[in-house]
Amino acid sequence: MSRSVLVTGGNRGIGLAIARAFADAGDKVAITYRSGEPPAGFLAVRCDITDSEQVEQAYKEIEEKHGPVEVLVANAGITKDQLLMRMSEEDFVSVLDTNLTGTFRVVKRANRAMLRAKKGRVVLISSVVGLLGSAGQANYAASKAGLVGFARSLARELGSRNITFNVVAPGFVHTDMTQALTEEQRTSILAQVPAGRYAQPEEIAAAVRFLASDDASYITGAVIPVDGGLGMGH
Ligand code: NDP
Repeated sequence: MSRSVLVTGGNRGIGLAIARAFADAGDKVAITYRSGEPPAGFLAVRCDITDSEQVEQAYKEIEEKHGPVEVLVANAGITKDQLLMRMSEEDFVSVLDTNLTGTFRVVKRANRAMLRAKKGRVVLISSVVGLLGSAGQANYAASKAGLVGFARSLARELGSRNITFNVVAPGFVHTDMTQALTEEQRTSILAQVPAGRYAQPEEIAAAVRFLASDDASYITGAVIPVDGGLGMGH
């Protein structure tokens, strides 16, 4: 059965791997992008998730072309790392506005049709640092921890409506985001990962696809780590 799937930030990195995993399984996949040329093979809609009007327009286009979104993967996210003393309020607020409030915007809009359809799957991409904490990433870690409370509240609010809300918490993954780390940061992170390596984006996509599948029908409010053991115990 071909479902209408939306992956925010599906134009590159983990989001693109997730979009490909759903498309390979035969789903109709829409992705958001902000600029440049989006990858071929998807319904690409221009949308900045910090702007409610753009979110509304993106949903209208997807609904017209693919029908109401049945599976939403809220993946778009940014980092603006800095130690607390040097972190500007703007850097704090903008990371929260994209990672947490941006997720609120897309989830709220998706929910309308999911309630009507009496089914839906929502997967939020958090991070291992949401629960572990990370020096220099107070804004990012707070936004990612916030996603857990958000998903679990919605799981309680809407659990009886056949809509599941789950969180995937990746460890360190080969993408542009981790490419920005220094060699020294990369070495020290790797030393803490029991698996002894970074993840490939496809390994995150596999967990997301499972949570959106029929096999995961009784899983809601869960936080699934895909982190090579980095976050064990949290
Ligand atoms: P990338 O930096 O490679 O990609 C980020 C994606 O988010 C891009 O598609 C980008 O779109 C999109 N995006 C950012 N801001 C906005 C916005 N305001 N509106 C719409 N789209 C936006 O990141 P990754 O693929 O590495 O990360 C994907 C998710 O996984 C993020 O939420 C990240 O926090 C999380 N994660 C990543 C880890 C890693 O090790 N890489 C580890 C744990 C979690 P555009 O191309 O337009 O900029």
